[in-house]
Amino acid sequence: MNWGAADTKTTLKKELAIIPAVGWVVAGLVLVVLLTVVTPLLVRTVPPKSGEPVWLLWIVLPFASLICTIWLLMVFYVNADAARRQMNRLLWTLLVIFIPNAIGFIVYFLLRQPIARPCPKCTTLLKAEFVFCPSCGQELVPKCPSCRHAVEAGWLACAFCGAKLG
Ligand SMILES: [Zn+2]
Ligand SMILES: [Zn+2]
Repeated sequence: MNWGAADTKTTLKKELAIIPAVGWVVAGLVLVVLLTVVTPLLVRTVPPKSGEPVWLLWIVLPFASLICTIWLLMVFYVNADAARRQMNRLLWTLLVIFIPNAIGFIVYFLLRQPIARPCPKCTTLLKAEFVFCPSCGQELVPKCPSCRHAVEAGWLACAFCGAKLG
């Protein structure tokens, strides 16, 4: 069984779930308009006796429409994703819209921060590198009570001094 593939599928599903309903509605409407209005209009602009391969447009234009729709969904995705990563939501949305050839998206995926997690004590959203909560001072990295080394969740004993954790 290929667990890796199953994992990727669930992750993709989870990622798509952050696109808001309005994003799906807008993208769906745009796709319908592109396919039923724009594509036939563009096909009709080719003069009938020009000898152009009109049938080719019926393949290329729907494909281009689909790309436009996916692009739109990606804009909504970045808008929602930036928010849960404590990144500048408006700035990144504008960057991915206006930087051509999807370069904005590439830069976004290269530079995006890890998903912010809430403080266990006061639920303030925290950046990954924080060691203490900036709102309530809660220590965020668990430490061994006897040697003060950082320990990982799930350890039964400290890996540095052997003290029992619990
Ligand atoms: Zn806190
Ligand atoms: Zn220790």
